[in-house]
Amino acid sequence: MTSIATLGSHCALQVLKGAKDEGLKTLLVCEKKRESLYRRFSFIDELILVDSFSEVIEQKCQSTLEQNNAVIIPHGTLIAQMSSEEIESIKTPIFGNKWILRWESDREMKEKLMREANLPVPKPVTTPSEIDKLVIVKRQGAAGGKGYFMAANEEDYNTKRNQLVSEGTISSDETLYIQEYAAGVLAYLQFFYSPLKQELEFFGVDQRHESDIEGLARIPSEQQLKSKKVPSFNVIGNSPLVLRESLLDEVYKMGDSFVEAAKRLVKPGMNGPFCIEGVYDENAKFTAFEFSARIVAGTNIYMDGSPYYSLLYDEPMSMGKRIAREVKIASEHNQLDKVTT
Ligand code: ATP
Repeated sequence: MTSIATLGSHCALQVLKGAKDEGLKTLLVCEKKRESLYRRFSFIDELILVDSFSEVIEQKCQSTLEQNNAVIIPHGTLIAQMSSEEIESIKTPIFGNKWILRWESDREMKEKLMREANLPVPKPVTTPSEIDKLVIVKRQGAAGGKGYFMAANEEDYNTKRNQLVSEGTISSDETLYIQEYAAGVLAYLQFFYSPLKQELEFFGVDQRHESDIEGLARIPSEQQLKSKKVPSFNVIGNSPLVLRESLLDEVYKMGDSFVEAAKRLVKPGMNGPFCIEGVYDENAKFTAFEFSARIVAGTNIYMDGSPYYSLLYDEPMSMGKRIAREVKIASEHNQLDKVTT
């Protein structure tokens, strides 16, 4: 029987609960320090205890996963803690497309895929001297917004960068990525593409809450100006959002064109869950600054089903359960190779 495995962090609880609801065995690669947390949940059948997640690529862990016919569900922690080479070297089948995860981690590749999908991306700024309007400065990979900052011109950029380097938040040799800041309402659009049905499903929308940029809006401007701290975009949590119905058609079109672009650039394409992340401006025009080519933690808010999935399924359906269902159906039809890499 196929089992579902993931790393103990990010959205592991949702993923494994969904797998158990689908009748699959569940395995958690768990850091020893988190053992007591995950032991609280009876839907986790087996813990593979490790000192660090990098042990996933070691023989011992791989053979336990193999003995259990495990499919690994990749999430943000896998991407944040392992290099693309390490992820690609994992022998256990990975749900979705492990090759596309590199396109998520590398800023240039990410931009290429977003452009291929015709997503309305913010203008990149090549060097600090070209900053002539408000920009956001990002680090490579999924840093979860930590150490990101805004700058209005080159001098502002240098001051803030130097401050973050001296505080040890970023290192002095780190290549930073600058793009125009898009102002508006944050919206993280969550999708699932089924390689079995060859169909795109829109799951839901979430908003991220980020400190301390959000805290700034709650203090008077004089205090904001006095603060010497560079505000960061560190994710604290997520909350649900429903869109005006008139925006949905464009949402589906963006999802479809992302799936098509991924099929062309990185085979077998964007299979499984993904997220297009951006903002709606005052004219309800969307700017996409980012994508995640795997389940996002924002789906945790819909563990009991999302508003949009209640239109597609007559049962509570989380993203974790949707993934497990795809694995289960594929396994029953001997088509696991269609849903994993
Ligand atoms: P993830 O954890 O999703 O991989 P990340 O580290 O790749 O995150 P982004 O999602 O690109 O980071 O950016 C983090 C936050 O910075 C966003 O949630 C958003 O608040 C803000 N942000 C990023 N790019 C822009 C932009 N171009 N305009 C406005 N805000 C932005």
